[in-house]
Amino acid sequence: MKVLVVGSGAREHALAWKLAASPQVEELYAAPGNPGMARVADCVPIRADAIVELADFAESLKVDLTVVGPELPLVLGIRDEFERRGLRLFGPTRRAAEVEGSKAFTKRLCQNYGIPTAPGEVVSSRQQAAEVASKLGLPVVFKADGLAAGKGVLVCRTEEELDEALERFFERREFGAAGERVVVEACLSGEELSFLVVTDGKSVWPLPAARDYKRLRDGDQGPNTGGMGAFSPAPLSRELASTVLSQVIYPALKALAHEGRWYQGVLYAGLMLTADGPKLLEFNCRLGDPEAQVILPRLGGDIAPALLAVARGEMGSPEITVERQASACVVLASRGYPQAPETGHPISGVEEAEASGALVFHAGTAMADGQLVTAGGRVLSVVGVAGSLREAVDKAYRAAEQVRFEGVQFRRDIGRGFADG
Ligand code: ATP
Repeated sequence: MKVLVVGSGAREHALAWKLAASPQVEELYAAPGNPGMARVADCVPIRADAIVELADFAESLKVDLTVVGPELPLVLGIRDEFERRGLRLFGPTRRAAEVEGSKAFTKRLCQNYGIPTAPGEVVSSRQQAAEVASKLGLPVVFKADGLAAGKGVLVCRTEEELDEALERFFERREFGAAGERVVVEACLSGEELSFLVVTDGKSVWPLPAARDYKRLRDGDQGPNTGGMGAFSPAPLSRELASTVLSQVIYPALKALAHEGRWYQGVLYAGLMLTADGPKLLEFNCRLGDPEAQVILPRLGGDIAPALLAVARGEMGSPEITVERQASACVVLASRGYPQAPETGHPISGVEEAEASGALVFHAGTAMADGQLVTAGGRVLSVVGVAGSLREAVDKAYRAAEQVRFEGVQFRRDIGRGFADG
């Protein structure tokens, strides 16, 4: 079959790498892809959010399956555009992707269908926001309704922080259209858990549990980032998995179907494990990055026909298995990330890292005069896969040390406290 992967990050490189290993995939394309993906796929220069051009391309080449990495094309309706033309795409429709595209929508869905979440309300003025905040009491959380690249959430612990949030949302309008509506909700405490499933709207296939690291520096210090590393399997009891399925995942799928928003693709629940049980913080409509880089290498079986079956809404008995092996991902980032990453520095040592047995997935890289150079904040994901988590972590770090570019930074504690296996 002919397959197209949409996106250009390390998550999409991991998807392309996995699909390239499928005996059923004869031709693989990536749009726009990156220099790492170019080794396993033909890269076509179409942006991930240019959904009409992507559909034109898939139509003209008779692509059998398109797999979308990032949220933006899904929220913009890429699935709908493909469906109109009879093309198969793995990922939800625009109305189903609202679970990520609108936090106000998800809050309402939770409230209307009894899905556990933080008490809160959707507001659109400073006065309403202040009223809800005073009703809930401090600490309180403000969330921009729309996509804000992980930067639209403010936790207010003091009156000063509350005033600051009111200023930023309603006076300075920092979040633009995404912040026209705001979810104001109670602040929850507990451990966080990401729970991901593949679904055709009826059946559910839980993906291996992964834990990601959001902060820039060791010990969860420094600013929030897109993600600096991950490992899998993360601790998750059978009992907790079944609670999340029965209290959050199945009710959400049922609620969406009830509203005519049939969901197909990856449904990612961001949860807070409170003393009062798991509560939904957010849904994402796609794989996480870097979670994908540790989940995909652990999948056995052939994902191409499995994803095609999901895209058709005919997910049968899963043809995909989870390997016993563990995996760990270390993200190599540019100096200045996340605020102002430096770019254009030559990268060396990728072959050596791969020769040491690790996987290297590209994100912010480019070719300049035949030389691989840095081209973004998160540059490469180095992934170790091994029989135990400790070995997987060691493998990832040995490989990470081989890669060099000016100003490289990465966390040294990925999977460390957990690597006892
Ligand atoms: P992401 O980058 O994970 O997609 P996001 O911007 O879509 O994030 P959320 O996941 O809703 O937003 O929130 C980001 C983070 O803010 C959460 O991972 C959590 O640490 C914190 N947070 C969100 N809501 C709450 C809450 N009600 N109580 C406490 N912390 C919260």
